Amino acid sequence: MKSLNRRNFLKSGLAGGALATFLGREKPAQAREFSGYTNKGTGVLVDLSRCVGCRSCEAACNREQNLPEPDVPFDDFSIFDTERHGGLKRRTSEGVFTVVNRYNPEELDHPLFRKFQCNHCEEPACLTSCFVNAYTKTPEGAVMYNPKVCVGCRNCMIACPFYVPAYSYSKPLNPIVEKCIMCYPTRLKFGKPPACVEACPTEALTFGSRVNVLKFAKERIRQHPEIFVDHVYGEKEVGGTAWLYISPVDFKKIGFDMNLGHQPIINYVKSFLATVPMVLTIWPALFAGFYRLANRKDGLKKDNNEGAREESQS
Ligand code: SF4
Ligand code: SF4
Ligand code: SF4
Repeated sequence: MKSLNRRNFLKSGLAGGALATFLGREKPAQAREFSGYTNKGTGVLVDLSRCVGCRSCEAACNREQNLPEPDVPFDDFSIFDTERHGGLKRRTSEGVFTVVNRYNPEELDHPLFRKFQCNHCEEPACLTSCFVNAYTKTPEGAVMYNPKVCVGCRNCMIACPFYVPAYSYSKPLNPIVEKCIMCYPTRLKFGKPPACVEACPTEALTFGSRVNVLKFAKERIRQHPEIFVDHVYGEKEVGGTAWLYISPVDFKKIGFDMNLGHQPIINYVKSFLATVPMVLTIWPALFAGFYRLANRKDGLKKDNNEGAREESQS
């Protein structure tokens, strides 16, 4: 069967069919059934007590991924002032795969900095929501995206519990999703740590096999109960993530979502689809609608032309 790409999807009228396929049968994805928390592949521990907000990780990511020049230079720390961003924390975008934000928890006499990027979930919602399988999870743990397969439906953006995938609207003719790829093509697949990890001067970031990184995180908490809250964020959240976090303050106070549950998003989506199917299928449905509208307009045009021809012949 001819492969389904963005152009075929829009032109060939398969949109409605794809929707029916999506709803009608279970998707052959890697996260079909939740088989418990995994420790597969590699992982990175982010120790929030060690991050000093130097933005070296942001700069290293920008270089490694050949991203555009930043709006604000990496040595300009006024970027942490939320007034610059309408009172909001910074988020990743098509040209920025990782950001560091500053928090001021009342129990600390100094600010706390938090690095943010794709968490490379063990059972990724972006992957399971994509009905053309544009996403894959490599054995090393990186969640990758294939623009050649993507049909631009943006289900992944809706599904990601961390709001990570960003659409590159600057490429209007062939927009693609952009996000952290854990430096897979240039580093991870050769066993090298991500560029951001290597650039961190305070060892706030630790790379290794996920199982070892998790053990290391728990050991650090055990040795310093006076510093850390007793929780490794990402050990179990949404079925586990490759990026793990330990913190000196309640995760809620520094923007972590504590209501995500311990099951992969697909498990909630399955029951959600049964009750409100249109919400997660809105884009395919819209594409199907646009296609039918275009056909109807073509049909009306044809009818009008034929009518005009008959009038001129009578
Ligand atoms: S954080 Fe979002 S984009 Fe990254 S792997 Fe998880 S679901 Fe996918
Ligand atoms: S892992 Fe690589 S792509 Fe992801 S934030 Fe770090 S440097 Fe950027
Ligand atoms: S390089 Fe390390 S210390 Fe600097 S902002 Fe990034 S995570 Fe924090």
